[in-house]
Amino acid sequence: ASGYSLLRDPQYNKGLAFTEKERDAHYLRGLLPPTVSTQQLQGKKLMNSIRQYEVPLQKYVAMMDLQARISTHYIIKIARCFGFATQERNERLFYKLLIDNVEELLPVVYTPTVGEACQKYGSIFRRPQGLYISLKEKGKILEVLKNWPERSIQVIVVTDGERILGLGDLGCQGMGIPVGKLALYTALGGVRPSACLPITIDVGTNNEQLLNDEFYIGLRQRRATGQEYYELLHEFMTAVKQNYGEKVLVQFEDFANRNAFELLAKYGTTHLVFNDDIQGTASVVLAGVVAALKLTGGTLAEHTFLFLGAGEAGTGIAELIALEMSKQTKTPIEESRKKIWLVDSKGLIVSSRKNSLQHFKKPWAHEHETVSSLLEAVKVIKPTVLIGSSGVGRTFTKEVIEAMASNNDKPLIMALSNPTSQSECTAEEAYQWSEGRAIFASGSPFDPIEYKGKVYASGQANNAYIFPGFGLGLVISGAIRVHDDMLLAASEALAKQVSEENYKKGLIYPPFSNIRKISANIAASVAAKAYELGLATRLPRPQNLVKNAESCMYTPVYRNYR
Ligand code: NAP
Ligand code: MN
Repeated sequence: ASGYSLLRDPQYNKGLAFTEKERDAHYLRGLLPPTVSTQQLQGKKLMNSIRQYEVPLQKYVAMMDLQARISTHYIIKIARCFGFATQERNERLFYKLLIDNVEELLPVVYTPTVGEACQKYGSIFRRPQGLYISLKEKGKILEVLKNWPERSIQVIVVTDGERILGLGDLGCQGMGIPVGKLALYTALGGVRPSACLPITIDVGTNNEQLLNDEFYIGLRQRRATGQEYYELLHEFMTAVKQNYGEKVLVQFEDFANRNAFELLAKYGTTHLVFNDDIQGTASVVLAGVVAALKLTGGTLAEHTFLFLGAGEAGTGIAELIALEMSKQTKTPIEESRKKIWLVDSKGLIVSSRKNSLQHFKKPWAHEHETVSSLLEAVKVIKPTVLIGSSGVGRTFTKEVIEAMASNNDKPLIMALSNPTSQSECTAEEAYQWSEGRAIFASGSPFDPIEYKGKVYASGQANNAYIFPGFGLGLVISGAIRVHDDMLLAASEALAKQVSEENYKKGLIYPPFSNIRKISANIAASVAAKAYELGLATRLPRPQNLVKNAESCMYTPVYRNYR
């Protein structure tokens, strides 16, 4: 047990913040320069150096370098290419930085930069930031899980890399997404880092560029489908429950929709599973819509919704909005669905297309003549709310926004597609083309915009508001299943956090700077639902669930070593 190894262990390292006493007790004398620093000062110094990098990817690498659990020569190499010295790894400092500078660093460790990292630098994830389970591990998945150094896991985020953000199939390089999501579970939701496990399931890739790339890190074959795919996934889900028990949360992330809906339906009744793209997105968008009613007026059921994109995000959101409408108006969900229309790559979803529609689109095939373009759909449906969930950028054109603005005094426009390059329109376009009348939010962040002398700040409609608190609520209540009412509870809790001051600026989401408090409130609401529905196993139920959530949250302050 040498001081040297203490400095090299990211979970215990404090760098210059080791006190005089600790330096004596742990053989650190001489290994550090004489100054004793504080975590605060270390954070300030690191932020200074991160701010000097102009390229977002450099900032990303600097952050990953700080977090990485196990020293990686590869990261050091990359860092040298960019011309900066690698710092020591220090997990607590990583989370401290992320929590204290959340608005500045979220775009670095999450969308949009994480997308670029997955595209270009899949290889920087080569060392174990997460588990890789490929077709080669078939029959041995339980053993693979046991190779991970931590035993008590509470949250798993898993991807198969087939639909990474709006960037498509990135195969094994999708690992950046579970790693990034779990960093937010800890920083935003307070789940202990050691209880988080990122996993990438590699069944091949259909991305020709990757298949031909000599440095590609994944299986060099086309994607397995059908029975072969489902058998691997089944072995995985079975091994997870066997190894970690019934209360481990499995979050499915960035699967292609044909698998996503099926996996969620299949394992929703036997495991604690949550699909962030379908359910998390739905909850966060419903919260934004409900909050926006304060600005637009009218009840939820008085609005008309049009979506561009009828996949996981689009139909997931549509269904949760319809569910909430039905609860409010006490009418059957079939009635509420009629207020909601979706456009996919073939045009407006209408009843004449019913026979050729994927099953998750069928509930949305209303009676109407065929309409082939979004613009035409906006003109005939006259939506009050327009939501982009297609993954295709630049699709809310000037004509589309102008049509929304001519039909509505305050059109609500949400461009959800990530990363920024895939956003349906920019904040600037939304405000300019609507002459400053749009209420706008987007999946990836935009800076405030000045239009005709007025500053417009737009909110970020991103599931990062929901999943960390949602997961925390499941963990602290020991929930064993996810229920739609929990999504509604989370949504309501988020909408309540929007202040008068936020509304005055046109915001329909609270700022991320309050996210830990927001997450605690979401967690408490989700936990309350879990107890109410008899799905919680942590008994007795704590009296004050908000306090309970707050007290369970991990904080990254240094510990004293004796
Ligand atoms: P998905 O399941 O693949 O669905 C995409 C949908 O868009 C499909 O219905 C597709 O039509 C449609 N589409 C594709 N190109 C189109 C075009 N040119 N015109 C009209 N429709 C088109 O994907 P998803 O999971 O819903 O994700 C979509 C996007 O949402 C991604 O960019 C993702 O990053 C983003 N997202 C954002 C958040 C957030 O928190 N902000 C959360 C989740 C997802 P077909 O069905 O006809 O192929
Ligand atoms: Mn996602």
